[in-house]
Amino acid sequence: MANVAMLDTPNGRKIRALEAVSEGHTFFCVSKGCAAKLYLCKEGTNSPYFSSFRKSDHAYDFCIDQKLSFHPDKIDERCFDLDKTIRRICYKVDNDIYNRAGKSSGGTVGTDRKIGINSAKGIYAMCEYVGCGNSYNGVPVDSIYLCGENKHLYNNALNGFCVVKAEYSRKVTKQPIIEFSFKVSSNKALKLAAIFQKEDDAWSFYNRIKKRENFKDLQYVIVSEWERDNSRIYDYKCQINKQSQIFFIYT
Ligand SMILES: [Zn+2]
Repeated sequence: MANVAMLDTPNGRKIRALEAVSEGHTFFCVSKGCAAKLYLCKEGTNSPYFSSFRKSDHAYDFCIDQKLSFHPDKIDERCFDLDKTIRRICYKVDNDIYNRAGKSSGGTVGTDRKIGINSAKGIYAMCEYVGCGNSYNGVPVDSIYLCGENKHLYNNALNGFCVVKAEYSRKVTKQPIIEFSFKVSSNKALKLAAIFQKEDDAWSFYNRIKKRENFKDLQYVIVSEWERDNSRIYDYKCQINKQSQIFFIYT
């Protein structure tokens, strides 16, 4: 299932399942270079989604990565605590703390207790599902998500936690850094540094992506806490403590 699709042609405009109507329309996968047809499921009306006619029609495996789909029926918006989510996604913390806290605070046994967002892919999927200009449990999506759609709101200040949709630039020689770029206008791009804990970690990510012939054309999602780079080599930098903080998606 997918939360967004292309309307009427594979290169059409992107539409969210929440806003879409089936009548008179066809829907396509949002991945660039993929023309798989989708249909709109409106059952249970609160959380419509797009589904593939045939999974094998998709050009890429990540088109059908379930972790990139947001499931509002399973995830409880009221459980979304941004600070806790940031710690869980960006730092190696003891997950038991959260599990214990979750169990003790629930109280009622046997209810279908929902869970909150607990992964980098999950928070990205939520931002795409809820959409720019909207909020999730009081947190404006535009305050934690930077993509082509809302870059006009961006005031040269990538400070603090942000889910950033960027383009691959290069692996920096002999450093644990992979450089990405974010296009702010047709002639200006920000240089972003994703700093891994060790150079081996950066290589491991690089080796994983370079297996894809089109890896330079993909879009990358980097989920971390950002700060200005005082050395001025990059515009902004962030620390990657877990490989799950970076992944690629459709373009
Ligand atoms: Zn696809």
